[in-house]
Amino acid sequence: MPTYQKILRVNEQYALDNDKEPSAVKRLLLHYSGMNSTQLVANLQTTMPNKSYRSFLRAVDQHVIHNKPIQHLMEYEYFFGRSFYVNGDVLIPRSETEELAENVISFIDEYFADSRINVLDIGTGSGCLALTLALECDNVKAVATDISEQALSIARKNKERLGGDVKFKEGNLLVPVNGQTFDVVVSNPPYIPNTEKLDPVVGDHEPPIALFGGKNGLDYYKDIIRDLPNVLNDEFLVAFEHASHQGKHLKKMIKKTFKNVRIIQMKDMQGKDRMLFITNKKPENASS
Ligand code: GLN
Repeated sequence: MPTYQKILRVNEQYALDNDKEPSAVKRLLLHYSGMNSTQLVANLQTTMPNKSYRSFLRAVDQHVIHNKPIQHLMEYEYFFGRSFYVNGDVLIPRSETEELAENVISFIDEYFADSRINVLDIGTGSGCLALTLALECDNVKAVATDISEQALSIARKNKERLGGDVKFKEGNLLVPVNGQTFDVVVSNPPYIPNTEKLDPVVGDHEPPIALFGGKNGLDYYKDIIRDLPNVLNDEFLVAFEHASHQGKHLKKMIKKTFKNVRIIQMKDMQGKDRMLFITNKKPENASS
């Protein structure tokens, strides 16, 4: 049997030769060896046991040749330090969305630290946003909607696995929460323009219903923003993830519906405009 070092080198090259990320191979090796990065480094000169080596090679081929996302092979993705079960029925949680969660948590700490608050997650998919907010903030009680029954069963499975005060409701966008109101609303709706050509790892395996948002990707924001005033408490925070080119259209849409709010645009770690926040809370250091 080859050493871990040789296995890594050969398969990372195989990935590169087929336009895939070498980091995906490393993650598969960690998964199939059952080691963490530190252990892998310490064991680079060790040989990999036959059985796990074969499983690893099968998975590498599924990814490199058949474009299967590694998360579908491993059946999980980490989000905010927790492992979420995923399959082809839900969007695989992304690191940009972790940044959205992180910013929402900071806003909650700043604006709503002393009260119990109701949070709504629209289009919850795997449940990653709603469950993370409920698990990270003691004062949060969340409701999460999704139109896909299959997605909701994954979200419920994640709740069983991780805990978190979240109620899941099936239905389109805000329809299932008709009559309820919230302090914080978050959403990472499908926002890819219908005609955009996707990498086959994404386009051939993740659910189109979780990816595409109409001609220019803005359809869901339009419906959500229109209905938001019906579900917001007097003082509120709304948080959206969006594609980098959509910020200015979204701001226009928001300004049409909301007067006297602050619209805060934030960049992701790559310096791209990827998140918008709407609030009528005063910043902490502002005089009232
Ligand atoms: N809210 C989920 C996530 O951010 C699902 C989003 C979606 O399906 N568009 O991963």
